[in-house]
Amino acid sequence: MSMAEIGPGSEGGSCRLALTDEDRDGRNLFVKWCIEAGCSISLDDMGNIFAHRTGRNSDLAPIVSGSHLDTQPHGGKFDGVYGVLAALEVIRTMNDFKVETEAPIEVVVWTNEEGSRFAPAMIASGVYAGLFDKEYAWSRTDSKGISLVDELKRIEYFGDQPCGAHTIGALLEAHIEQGPILENNNNQIGVVIGAQGQRWFDVTVKGQDSHAGSTPMPGRRDALVASAEIVTMLHQLAHDHAPDGVATVGEMTIKPNSRNTIPGEVFFTVDMRNPDDSLLKIMADTFRQKSEACTARHQVALDINEIWHNPPVKFDPNCIAAVSNAVTALDYSHQQIVSGAGHDACQVCRVVPTSMIFVPCAGGLSHNEQESAEPEDLEAGCNVLLQAMIRLAT
Ligand SMILES: [Zn+2]
Repeated sequence: MSMAEIGPGSEGGSCRLALTDEDRDGRNLFVKWCIEAGCSISLDDMGNIFAHRTGRNSDLAPIVSGSHLDTQPHGGKFDGVYGVLAALEVIRTMNDFKVETEAPIEVVVWTNEEGSRFAPAMIASGVYAGLFDKEYAWSRTDSKGISLVDELKRIEYFGDQPCGAHTIGALLEAHIEQGPILENNNNQIGVVIGAQGQRWFDVTVKGQDSHAGSTPMPGRRDALVASAEIVTMLHQLAHDHAPDGVATVGEMTIKPNSRNTIPGEVFFTVDMRNPDDSLLKIMADTFRQKSEACTARHQVALDINEIWHNPPVKFDPNCIAAVSNAVTALDYSHQQIVSGAGHDACQVCRVVPTSMIFVPCAGGLSHNEQESAEPEDLEAGCNVLLQAMIRLAT
């Protein structure tokens, strides 16, 4: 709640866009809390923060947990922040009970997870995992043309460690689910086994602009009517792959966008997800075939351009077991779950053994100022994180 007071939203949430003064103030508060908990702080050249608690064996790679402190413009209090503060609470609890671990324990804050100010999202964890080039990440600009690296330097979070050089033995990320599954099933903990694969498409449908009054219905080449059919077909296609498959058309541009002209061209985006890559391929192939049949029927041209294929993520069996054993020992209601959203953990897992812990959020609502979670659920997630980290660090 103290963190949420920094960059407060107008409706109870938070607005701390990456590398703004608000983000800096949130980071400063976090660093102050970590130093009070006896941690030493290091910083890499993507602005990722590592707060270190020594273990008995400093040669061992640290067991790390954390998430992000940046938010959406109308963000909630819990997305990202929970994972960071849960990890800090683990360290505070270890201090309270004088717990010593073999491996050091660390809290990480990843820069620009949301991608709201600087696209793409999860950029700093992506650089860490070698998925993005650092020069590319530094050169990303916001809507005013200000670069990520200039903002990193301005808020004094440009560190001296090269991003990716900081060793991590294992990574656990606690996060609100951002979906309704745990709440609907009355489960307190989600043992996250992986994340969905995603395929993104840019689609252009071209017909012919024509007079809305004098053009008879037969023979029209209406790009919007064809596009509308494709949208409905996609919706059905995802239902056919329920509950795992999802598909969304979230963006559409109509040309000429005039009340009394038949739309000659429509552009729209498709976001398609499935935790199984072969089923995702079937969804993508069916989408293409049915779209072609539809546009042929309407005598319009179709261009489908796949701009991104992010294969599904499977988390590390050993990290999943650490979480699973912790949750069983603590006797919380739980289930296995696949993440529908992207997270820093989904990037870092390409190079570090990783898994995640989900807790419910009210109505599954996130990226919204009303985002809310129950103290008992947050505490349960934190207890699971503590026990899992002890298991991994001993
Ligand atoms: Zn998040």
